[in-house]
Amino acid sequence: SSRSDDLASDVEKTERLFLSVIDSKRALETSRVYATHPHLASSEEDFEDAKVILKLFQDQFGISPLSELPVFPAGSPESRNSTLSINKLTSPTAWIDKYFPVMNTGVNATLQILNENGEPTWTADLVEDGDPADPEAAKYRNAIPTWHGLSGDGDVEGQLVYANYGTKEDFDKLVAAGIDFKGKIVLVRYFAVFRGLKIMAAQELGAAGVLIYTDPRDDGSVTVENGYLPYPAGPARNPTSVQRGSVQFLSIYPGDPTTPGYPAYENATRTDGENIPKIPSLPISWANAQRLLAEISDTEDARVLNGKTSKTKVRLVNRVDDHVMPIWNTMAVIPGHIKSETVLVGCHRDAWVMGAADPTSGTVTLTEVIYGLGTLVRSGWKPLRNIVIASWDAEEYGLVGSTEWGEDFAEWISNNVVAYLNVDVSVAGSAWNTGASPSLAHLIRKTAEDIPHPHDSERTLWDAKKDAGPFTGPADAEFMSAYESMQLKRATETGVPPLGSGSDFTVFLQHLGVASMDQGFSFTPTDAVYHYHSIYDSQHWQEVFADPDFERHVAVSKHLGLMALRLADAIILPLNTTQYALELEDYLNEVENLTSTSLKFSKLRHSIKKLQKASQKLDAEKIKAEKNFRKLLEKVSRRNQQGFFNFCLSTLKDGFFRIMNIFGLGIEEGGMVPVEKFIKAAKRVQKANSKLVAFERGFISEDGIKDREWYKHLGVAPGKWLGYGATTLPALAEAITFEKNSTLAAFEADRLSDLLDKLSHTLKELNAL
Ligand code: GLU
Ligand code: CA
Ligand code: ZN
Ligand code: ZN
Repeated sequence: SSRSDDLASDVEKTERLFLSVIDSKRALETSRVYATHPHLASSEEDFEDAKVILKLFQDQFGISPLSELPVFPAGSPESRNSTLSINKLTSPTAWIDKYFPVMNTGVNATLQILNENGEPTWTADLVEDGDPADPEAAKYRNAIPTWHGLSGDGDVEGQLVYANYGTKEDFDKLVAAGIDFKGKIVLVRYFAVFRGLKIMAAQELGAAGVLIYTDPRDDGSVTVENGYLPYPAGPARNPTSVQRGSVQFLSIYPGDPTTPGYPAYENATRTDGENIPKIPSLPISWANAQRLLAEISDTEDARVLNGKTSKTKVRLVNRVDDHVMPIWNTMAVIPGHIKSETVLVGCHRDAWVMGAADPTSGTVTLTEVIYGLGTLVRSGWKPLRNIVIASWDAEEYGLVGSTEWGEDFAEWISNNVVAYLNVDVSVAGSAWNTGASPSLAHLIRKTAEDIPHPHDSERTLWDAKKDAGPFTGPADAEFMSAYESMQLKRATETGVPPLGSGSDFTVFLQHLGVASMDQGFSFTPTDAVYHYHSIYDSQHWQEVFADPDFERHVAVSKHLGLMALRLADAIILPLNTTQYALELEDYLNEVENLTSTSLKFSKLRHSIKKLQKASQKLDAEKIKAEKNFRKLLEKVSRRNQQGFFNFCLSTLKDGFFRIMNIFGLGIEEGGMVPVEKFIKAAKRVQKANSKLVAFERGFISEDGIKDREWYKHLGVAPGKWLGYGATTLPALAEAITFEKNSTLAAFEADRLSDLLDKLSHTLKELNAL
């Protein structure tokens, strides 16, 4: 058989061996280890878990542990060298980077209803009940206060005013109806947009404070009204559950609030933290919220409540301690043959409390990937490209660990990372969901179609996108319409929607321009209620309701692992830039639908067309480059391989020619005939790959998006008032929707058009090399 066939079968063998290692029983055991204790960022348990992962890396990748733990303060020569020497590594390595962000801990909170004399008539308990039917939740009931990460410190009094979900539209409507938020305490419910942006909107309107409660009507079908018992007795919401969470103004910038755009070293010069609230806020339970709603109206109907104010005043005290809190990213590298190309895979490790779903399910998924890759490494396999694996810390406070590493090594990442694969919550429900750069959509789908559905061998993982949970019953109409319109907004032709934010891909995609993906099984309106960021996101809940046999966990491991292998081992990077270029046209059509004015985007449309053509040329080029490379490889393999390979090495020292290793061409002294044709062919492959990587980078504009310059990607950003949701062509779209400024819109259309022209040019320029 030819060498090409051998190569194909090698790839298959590698994948088969990887898949054979993934094990649901071990995944369940891993989950029991991580999810049965709290591991809040910066806590002792969090550091312990960082070391557990370090040890796993060492054991699996055959790294001999040194006498001293490799825990390196960020900015130290050891820390800098660890990442910057990835390009020179010959064997796997692992270490812990320690960053120093300013974050907060909840010290004391009080919530009271006051009488006319300012005396409390009711005081909220502000605690989850810790029902003993969920033993871990009961044990850790008081371990972590119910507060908002990075929330403002304060002691305020004011009337309550109800503002539905607290979205930009909710506030705009109420303001238009004459509602005054000044000095009031705004009561809003969770869902629809990132919580920090609810606070941002209320703060802009002069509110004194914000309370965010969890409304069971936003749980879908699984409600007490529909006959379900509250958790732990049944699948409905425990009415005392509280959703903790960061209230950072995520859409302005993520990461350490005091070092925007640069790394949080211990001795860093710090700002005041422009992306965190000045006003206090608290997350509260449905049980506590019901008591407050009664002060506003005698109905709990959100439509009636909306915009209504209580006669009585409420006191909200949020005492927090802001201080530098050390965090630990655990990192590992499997060096590849091509030193200048890296596939990055990551998941956060910190949780608000135990976090069985968030993020333990992701950590378990990643752990199985590590076992799989470990087996490959120990069998003598070496990837074509480097694989770097990260266990991020302090994601929960605002993507802190990943953002600080991304800011610290921005240049290295920009020059080396070909794709970032994220996993956060891998199982919180029954529908498999993914989001990604459009260039990864086809690979994601193909890979999902190669993996069996977790519970039905007739179907594939891709089919699990449409899965629903086991519980039925009428759901709240307003919730369903909001839920469905969110799903619709995410719909794309490929079935893979663009990424907004809310997890660790943000710095790589939207700050640095690295093609990225995220995935996992999400909560649906017919699933057992997911008690997000509550003590009830527990191992007990995971084993009883979400993934009793852990087959969903390992389905995600298989997908994530194959994605990493296919990106790391393919000769031509499996990035479909033409899909991306075509999708840009859909984005532009959407923008045009936003405007009723006479704005025409013909120049931008032309630039998109040009980019499509440049990308189609690249498609032809990459097919030819690979074919040519493989053909020559066959010929070369019949000649003296060693001599040839030596020549390649001595000519080009580093980089692409190490590719030869995977074809089994050993290195030996004493050269033979140089095969210049082959070098040319290899160069062509390398060039095509550089262009594929340059494509996503091409959306990065150094000036960034107006008023939130940290976000530099002009193709996609977290919506300014969405946070989790993506806004495509953000600078242009928001000039129309929020700024309502046609001069600015025209400027933004030009800026984008110029950027895309430059990208088309880059593709051609590299062509001419
Ligand atoms: N994933 C976390 C959350 O949604 C953190 C997101 C962030 O703060 O950026 O609360
Ligand atoms: Ca920073
Ligand atoms: Zn998470
Ligand atoms: Zn979370």
